[in-house]
Amino acid sequence: MSDKPNYLETLYPTWGQNFVMDEVLFEVNTGHQHLVIFNNAQWGTVMALDGVIQTTEKDEFVYHEMMTHVPMLAHGNAKKVLIIGGGDGGILREVLKHQNVESVTQVEIDQQVIDMCVQYLPNHSAGAYDNPKANIVIADGVDFVNECTEKFDVIISDSTDPMGPGEVLFTSRFYQGIKNCLNDDGVFVAQNGVSFMQTDEVTTTYKRLSPLFTQASFYSGAVPTYVGGIMTFAWATDNLQLKEVSLETLQQRFSQSGIKTRFYTPEVHKGAFALPQYVLDAIA
Ligand code: SAM
Repeated sequence: MSDKPNYLETLYPTWGQNFVMDEVLFEVNTGHQHLVIFNNAQWGTVMALDGVIQTTEKDEFVYHEMMTHVPMLAHGNAKKVLIIGGGDGGILREVLKHQNVESVTQVEIDQQVIDMCVQYLPNHSAGAYDNPKANIVIADGVDFVNECTEKFDVIISDSTDPMGPGEVLFTSRFYQGIKNCLNDDGVFVAQNGVSFMQTDEVTTTYKRLSPLFTQASFYSGAVPTYVGGIMTFAWATDNLQLKEVSLETLQQRFSQSGIKTRFYTPEVHKGAFALPQYVLDAIA
């Protein structure tokens, strides 16, 4: 083992992943959460919040492409998009690649996450925060969606896990707020944990979304540093056609978008909604 300090993820009390910190770039208690950014030989620059790995240079594309292009290409013509959380800027970057988008509102509780990610993880936002279509609001997402009078076509909750400031983003009050500000034919997606390790979160989210939306479901993706297998993304909409968009239509929309990806493909999109039995059992 190296003589350099280690970062031990504390998401799970009895096991976890370990990163050798070649260099600690920034560390602070922001008043909302503990933020640390460090370099690691395998993953590049890594950002963690409250002991949980949030994003790394090496594998961020998996998560940001699946969180963004699945709802955006299923919808096909999203003009107004809302992001909750997403302080590293990866979702904002990917949303702005869709030419139909007229405005993106991002509601992030912690300005320091934005500032430090722009400085130490510049390729995540890649200038997106300076895009005139981007409207950045520093607030608690649960308050914003419950007070908001605007309506959005796609809403993406790119939050931390249900702990600390992120806990409220997994509550019925938050989902009711989402319902209030989602257009009738719109879709809401949210990061919903690693399903093998956080199966109860799948069940809880399903129970809280189902009374509010015609369709509550999940799709999956495999993010290497979200350890424990596939992660699930919550999916909620009143528009039953969105999940059934054909492969041919997705291929056409993806091709017309001109977006270059490293993980997302229309085939992966369709396949992501095929859930393993233990996840189906968790939402039975
Ligand atoms: N990709 C990461 C994951 O899946 O765990 C999440 C990325 S992003 C860093 C998570 C963001 O959610 C952070 O910037 C954090 O400050 C923000 N956040 C947490 N609670 C929030 C809240 N109640 N309202 C708005 N933003 C919040």
